[in-house]
Amino acid sequence: MIAAGKIEASAWMADASSQRLFAALGAAGIVARFVGGCVRNAVLGKTADDLDLAVDKPPESVMRALETAGIKVVPTGLKHGTVTAIANSQVFELTTLRRDVETDGRRAVVAFTDDWLEDAGRRDFTFNALYADPDGTLYDPFDGRADLAAGRVRFIGDPDTRIAEDRLRVLRFFRFHAWYGRPPLDGPSYQACARNAASLGGLSGERVRKELLRTLEASAAPDAFGAMREAGVLDRWLPEYAGSARLRALIAREDEPDGLRRLAAILPTGADATAIGKRLKLSTQEAMRLDVMLARKPEIDIAGGPRAWREGVYRLGNGLYIDRLLLAVDAPGDWRAALAMARAWTPPELPVSGGDALKLGLRPGPRVGALLDAVERWWVDGDFTADRAACLAELERLARAT
Ligand code: ATP
Ligand code: MG
Repeated sequence: MIAAGKIEASAWMADASSQRLFAALGAAGIVARFVGGCVRNAVLGKTADDLDLAVDKPPESVMRALETAGIKVVPTGLKHGTVTAIANSQVFELTTLRRDVETDGRRAVVAFTDDWLEDAGRRDFTFNALYADPDGTLYDPFDGRADLAAGRVRFIGDPDTRIAEDRLRVLRFFRFHAWYGRPPLDGPSYQACARNAASLGGLSGERVRKELLRTLEASAAPDAFGAMREAGVLDRWLPEYAGSARLRALIAREDEPDGLRRLAAILPTGADATAIGKRLKLSTQEAMRLDVMLARKPEIDIAGGPRAWREGVYRLGNGLYIDRLLLAVDAPGDWRAALAMARAWTPPELPVSGGDALKLGLRPGPRVGALLDAVERWWVDGDFTADRAACLAELERLARAT
C-alpha cells in the first residue's frame, strides 16, 4: 500500500501514549497504523471517538510485544485478531490485518494476513479504509478522501456483493451518509441498498438498534430516514415510521442529540413501545421511557404557564417531562421557558403520608390511599404552596367530611 500524501497529525496520533505504543510494537518488528473512524475524522478535522489500529502480525505477537514493554493489554477478541491496549490510560484497539474466508450475510470467518490491501478491501466504504502513520502519512487505496470531501458514501467494490457478505452494511450506508454525506446519495450504492432491503430480516435486533440510534443522532437524520423508508429499509425493522417532520422540529429544539428521544419523534403517538422495544432489544428502562414519550397522555400544557409546567414535572419527573416537552412541537406556548424551569426546579414531596392518616385514627386500607390522593390533588392545584401543617389540616378536614 503506497502513501497518499500527509494529513496534519491530530494530537492523539503522536502524543506520549501513542509514541509509547508504537515504540513497543516497532521494537518487535510489528507495523501498526491508525485506521477507520479515527483517521476519517482526522481528515475532517474532527475528534476521534475510539482509536483503532491495524497491525501486521497475529494477536499473540502483539500481546507479547506490548507486555514486554510493560503496556497493559487485554485479549478482547483473539479469534478476530483484536486486543485492547492501555498505554498511559489511553485505550487503543489493535486488530491484525484480515481477509474474509467465508461470509454468510451476518458473520464472517476471517484469516489473518500481512497484506494491507486485502485488509482495506474487506472494509465497507471508501472513506472507512483510510490508514495513517503517527506522523500523519496517509494511505487511501480507494480514493476515500475524495469521496469524503464530496460527501459521497461509496461501497468498496461491487455494492451488491458487499451487501451479500454482510447485510448490516445497508444500514451502515445510511448511517454514514447521515453523518458524513451530502445529497444526492451515491446512485449505485443506494440502488443496491434498495434492491437488498427485503433481506434485512436475518439481522440481530441489537445490531439494528445500534445502527438506527446512531443514525438518529446525526443532524441529517431526517433525510436519512426519509431515504431509508423510500428504499424499503424500514419495512422490517421500523414499519411504524411516520415521517421526519417532528424530528426536524425536535432537532431545532435540542441542545444535544438523544437517539431514543429522536426515535420517538419519528413514531406515531400511541405506537406500541413494548413491541418496538422487543424488536430493537431496548432495555426495560428504555422501553418504559419510549412508552411515556409515545403515550397520548398527559398532554403537555405549555401555554398554561409555570403552574402547569410544575404540575407536569411533578407528575412525570424532570427527565420524562423534558422528553415530552421537547416532543410537543405543535403545542403553543413558551417552550424555552418551560424547559428552563424543568431543568432548574426540583419537585417537592407531598408533606403528609399514610402514617399521618393513621394518627388521625383511620384504619389502614384503600380509604387512606384515596384521602392522600385527594390531599395531593389539592396540594398540586395550589401550586405546592401548602406546608405540612396546612396539608395535615386538609387531610383532617377531608377525613371528617367523607
Ligand atoms: P464510528 O466513528 O461511527 O465508530 P467507525 O468508522 O469507527 O465509525 P466502526 O463501526 O467503529 O465505525 O468500525 C470501524 C471500522 O471497521 C470501519 O471504519 C470499517 O473500516 C470497518 N468496519 C466495521 N464494520 C464493518 C462492516 N460491517 N463491514 C465492513 N467493514 C466494517
Ligand atoms: Mg469506531
